[in-house]
Amino acid sequence: MTTFEKLKLYLNDIDRNDQVGNKINAFLKINRGALRYAQLIDDKIKKGQAGRLAGQIIAVKANINVKGFNASCASKTLENYKAPYDATVIKKIKDEDGLIIGMTNMDEFACGSSGETSAFGPTKNPQSLDLIPGGSSSGSAAAVSARFCDMALGSDTGGSIRNPASHCGVVGIKPSYGSVSRYGLIDLSMSLDQIGPIAKTVQEAALLLDVIIGKDKDDSISVESQKLDLKKIDEVPKVVVGVLDFKIKDQKIQKLIDDKIKSASKKYGWKIKKIKMNYIDLAVETYYPLNYVEFFSATRRFDGRRYGKKIENVAGPEVLRRLLGGSEISKAEYYGRYYHLALKAKKLIEDEFSKAFKGTRGRTSEGGIDCIISPTVPRLPHKIGEKISVQDMYGYDVLTSPQNLAGNCAISIPAGGIKGIPVGLQIVCDNFQEQKMLQIARAIEKI
Ligand code: GLN
Repeated sequence: MTTFEKLKLYLNDIDRNDQVGNKINAFLKINRGALRYAQLIDDKIKKGQAGRLAGQIIAVKANINVKGFNASCASKTLENYKAPYDATVIKKIKDEDGLIIGMTNMDEFACGSSGETSAFGPTKNPQSLDLIPGGSSSGSAAAVSARFCDMALGSDTGGSIRNPASHCGVVGIKPSYGSVSRYGLIDLSMSLDQIGPIAKTVQEAALLLDVIIGKDKDDSISVESQKLDLKKIDEVPKVVVGVLDFKIKDQKIQKLIDDKIKSASKKYGWKIKKIKMNYIDLAVETYYPLNYVEFFSATRRFDGRRYGKKIENVAGPEVLRRLLGGSEISKAEYYGRYYHLALKAKKLIEDEFSKAFKGTRGRTSEGGIDCIISPTVPRLPHKIGEKISVQDMYGYDVLTSPQNLAGNCAISIPAGGIKGIPVGLQIVCDNFQEQKMLQIARAIEKI
């Protein structure tokens, strides 16, 4: 099938889905002009001059700048903001002939775990329409899961790629902190955010990651990380798997993951080591003060003068909660009590992970582990609109946010389902160990 034909099919499916009232609401904006580019790409393919993403149709979270498109962050604040430039990741995708199909729905300014805080209505879970798809990259995961595109970009501050990937039954990667440029990402929390891929398979996600990874002169925290070797992704490494001594309430989820680990260990001869992380239960309490303060600071430019409307005048309750919290914590009298304390706790968590991996950077030294495997999310998704407490909502991040605090790379892959609802398995590796993480993920995917 040509790129043109495939794009036409996707666009028809999206339109049909919208008409039958099952509207998944994955997209905020569709790029209909892409059909013209699809033909150009097909010409290039015929001539053998096409890039590595030729034929791939890619959806983009609405907090990433794509020139000429509305990067609204699913907020009334930036409802009419048109991106004047391409984010570095978008430039790289276009350079490799990837085709952008549209901008996806999300939690407002990426604040959320369910996809319900969008100012333009919640996204539905394509695998179970009355359930949340997870968030905040809800539309990106839902679009891949509903087969409205081949792959998508999301952003992950505390779990926002892995969480919806888990609930929608697809693959999502949070790269190590600094390995992918964030130039052109409208940030939620600058010390934690990463852009990453969502796709149906580990291989497809790895391809997109390989295109966007690498140092960027426009993002000073980006680094030249290890080069990926996609040809070796099917090689199964000999590893020591760390299993967290950490209780989640839903025993069915835990059992599903434990069984997968057991099968993998039997099939590949992997060693399993139970590990205790002393500070991991502080992660959510550490994550939110950092997030509130950095989000408050990042949004001061949305004062209604340069970009759209004043954020305080139009934002929804979750964004307002964070602005209020962030401004309170930032005030001098609280300074040192919350933000600085949270930074200290972040360092403890970071050090603990590094110790568990023994700072191996690829080699497992005596007693060290190569990866940690756990559920991605501790519970099944709730019903759209169901009232859940703020604590329960933040509780979705308990297993994903530690990796943002530590800067590690992590991936969520489908592990099966409970009554038809997908459950994700998370693999975490030391920072800049993406290659090993992808190989482990690919090995488990094959079981
Ligand atoms: N659920 C987390 C939050 O609401 C994570 C969001 C994200 O990763 N963007 O902050």
